[in-house]
Amino acid sequence: MALGSDIEIARAAKKLPIQAIGAKLGIPEADLLPYGHDKAKVGQGFIASVQGRPDGKLILVTAINPTPAGEGKTTTTVGLGDGLNRIGKRAVVCIREASLGPNFGMKGGAAGGGMAQVVPMEEMNLHFTGDFHAITSAHNLLAAMIDNHIYWGNTLDIDQRRIVWRRVMDMNDRALRDVVTSLGGVSNGFPRQTGFDITVASEVMAILCLARDLADLERRLGDIVVAYTRAKVPVTCRDIKADGAMTVLLKDAMQPNLVQTLENTPAFVHGGPFANIAHGCNSVIATTTALKLGEYVVTEAGFGADLGAEKFFDIKCRKAGLRPAAAVIVATVRAMKMNGGVAKADLGAENVAAVRAGCPNLGRHIGNVQSFGVPVVVAINHFTSDTPAEVQAVKDYVAGLGAEAVLCKHWAEGSAGIEELARKVVALAESGVADFAPLYPDAMGLFDKIETVARRIYHAEGVVADAGVRDQLKAWEDAGHGHLPVCIAKTQYSFTTDPTVRGAPVGHSIPLREVRLSAGAGFVVAICGEIMTMPGLPRSPSAEVIRLNADGDVEGLF
Ligand code: ADP
Ligand code: MG
Repeated sequence: MALGSDIEIARAAKKLPIQAIGAKLGIPEADLLPYGHDKAKVGQGFIASVQGRPDGKLILVTAINPTPAGEGKTTTTVGLGDGLNRIGKRAVVCIREASLGPNFGMKGGAAGGGMAQVVPMEEMNLHFTGDFHAITSAHNLLAAMIDNHIYWGNTLDIDQRRIVWRRVMDMNDRALRDVVTSLGGVSNGFPRQTGFDITVASEVMAILCLARDLADLERRLGDIVVAYTRAKVPVTCRDIKADGAMTVLLKDAMQPNLVQTLENTPAFVHGGPFANIAHGCNSVIATTTALKLGEYVVTEAGFGADLGAEKFFDIKCRKAGLRPAAAVIVATVRAMKMNGGVAKADLGAENVAAVRAGCPNLGRHIGNVQSFGVPVVVAINHFTSDTPAEVQAVKDYVAGLGAEAVLCKHWAEGSAGIEELARKVVALAESGVADFAPLYPDAMGLFDKIETVARRIYHAEGVVADAGVRDQLKAWEDAGHGHLPVCIAKTQYSFTTDPTVRGAPVGHSIPLREVRLSAGAGFVVAICGEIMTMPGLPRSPSAEVIRLNADGDVEGLF
């Protein structure tokens, strides 16, 4: 079957008014704050009023290491939500908001694809309800107040060489990566070198996504370390007195956004932290609210299971007290072939041997996720080029590990194509076998935490770090940050730090280059490899072909 483009399908959606979607979840109209006809925020008062209710079951959708062939985590998250509703379960989808900047480069959309999408997808990928603009404003208010504090005398004795708070913008603009501010004379302050990150890399984004409520948000904002004094004493956002005003700017952004899928399943789309220097999942407040309103909540974590699921479990679930009932690992025949050594251009031809050769990558992710006490089912996201023999090879491999792989055709068929997976997920979730526990205890030392993830999840021999990095971790432990979880930033393409190494490698070591403290978000970032926090645009950015057509519709976006 030939489908239209994602944007054509999305435009033809038979959307219900957002009040009808809210009604499906029992949200009274008065508690919805509509942003147009098809988007609404859910009021804080309503969220507070449902806290005493029991939780629904939480299902994580994760994947193998991403390949250029594409895996379809969001597409499967949305499809499974629709599939669960189809078999009579009240399901809610929870996914991230999209960053605006990358849409004008080369990225695909963030709303799913084919017949499994969230709508309105153009808006979700652009300004949406303004949350990212609010985060940008709150972040930059703090930056302005730091420079202003120094301008008026610097009573906090901030060492201008040790200001760690940069500025952010939601645009891919490599020209802003390193800049000198305050040029132009005495009245403009003291020149210093700094730079811009993209908004999704802001610690404010991570904080908004981990905060339980507005009071928790304000406390976490206050905890942000923005600079150090000459004596290396941390200076916080609270010292700068920016936490109150930032909370004011973020009060609406903190409220989850309700939209719908193509099949009118309620979907919360809220928050979108980077999946490398941050934890890469939608907001805690959206997930916890959805759990109060639905029987099943299907959510996605960024990248493959080694980064995405590990952070979902060790950071988000640990901190928010969430207990996932089951996990779906998305794999594709094409990606198995790429892991088996086939080049992207040759993916069209049947190659069962290459599928088999690539399966150990999937196998390792299955074992990893199970090691958190969460039962797993594999979703084979079907592409039209897949042959029955190739699909069977994946099923046989997974069966050999004592798990099950289910062929899913939600991209082409919507919920009708994913019923079998939905039933399997319900069976797993209701079997009560889930017994979630994070990988390491809070009390473990910071370096040991990093090494535990490297050994148990990446199957590396160890972590290599020079004395300066170890000393910094020790200093943070002495300052009372030792209980924090770690957030590892490394390539998403491999279990190693080399993006070209596919499959299930062993014997590698993980070089730890740099560590950063996100005291407000509540984790220590361990940077293993080159990590870009301000992307650039490609030679021919998609912005060159994005335009409005004569009907006023957006063209060229996906
Ligand atoms: P992820 O969340 O893993 O990054 P997405 O779900 O966003 O992946 O999908 C990436 C792209 O791949 C989307 O444009 C989507 O339309 C496309 N896609 C997903 N599944 C399929 C499929 N089964 N057949 C063809 N294209 C697909
Ligand atoms: Mg996705």
